Amino acid sequence: MLYVVATPIGNLEDITLRALRVLREVDLIAAEDTRHTRKLLSRYEIGTPVTSYHEGNERTKAGVLTRRLEAGEDIALVSDAGTPTISDPGYHLIRAAAELGVAVTPVPGVSAATAALSVCGLATDRFVFQGFLPARQGRRREVLRELGDDDRTLVLYEAPHRIREALRDMHDVLGDREAVVGRELTKVHEELSRGTLSELAERFDEEGAKGEFVVVIAGRGERPPVSEEVLRAEIGRLLEAGGTANEVAKLVARTFSLAKRDVYKRVLEVAKRSPQ
Ligand code: SAM
Repeated sequence: MLYVVATPIGNLEDITLRALRVLREVDLIAAEDTRHTRKLLSRYEIGTPVTSYHEGNERTKAGVLTRRLEAGEDIALVSDAGTPTISDPGYHLIRAAAELGVAVTPVPGVSAATAALSVCGLATDRFVFQGFLPARQGRRREVLRELGDDDRTLVLYEAPHRIREALRDMHDVLGDREAVVGRELTKVHEELSRGTLSELAERFDEEGAKGEFVVVIAGRGERPPVSEEVLRAEIGRLLEAGGTANEVAKLVARTFSLAKRDVYKRVLEVAKRSPQ
């Protein structure tokens, strides 16, 4: 069995009883950084052997580990913090194990993304997890533009040396939306900064930036009202394409988030003016 085990993102108490038992009972722990994981293990007096599994050796090590799994050993996969595979290694091992029919089971727990979402005070019924943005500014802005139309809450990870310029890009591309920056969550210097993207960009410009960061940004929100001209042109196009008045009203109402009965009136007017 391959256990995918979530570990703390700061506070070492944030680990489940099951995670501790699994880490104690497996034959081997595959860890992103063995020294880092040994600190957690020594805190809980766990003596299980640890081997390295990180970005640099993921592909080759996945083969070695799956052979041991096939031979009947139990392995726990952990990363330095939070949930493995969430902006962390694990993908290759899990795929290799699944392809060989080895059972893979989650031992769920913390992730910086869900920790930040849980306290952000923005809509969390639907969200998009972007992980890290590209390091190069051009590409970073491009990705932000792609996300700009989404009305779901956006969750991003950012490195301390890039948080300032990233917040400025977020403001420039997404506009002055409401956002929350979670810094050093669950650690001694935990801090939640709430504000608009311009306020947050300014704050981190002044303060400098140390620590680990999650940024949660409100989705696009209300669409700007559609003009009468665009609305009627779309109705005309759909009528010409053969839609019935009812179908066209339904589709246009859904597209522009309008009441169907209001759109229906316009559909009849447009149809009267340009009979098929
Ligand atoms: N697998 C981890 C998870 O489940 O959250 C994420 C690993 S990723 C390599 C590390 C990034 O997660 C950091 O750069 C930061 O953006 C975020 N992060 C991790 N711990 C954090 C914390 N305590 N406070 C804020 N952000 C954190």
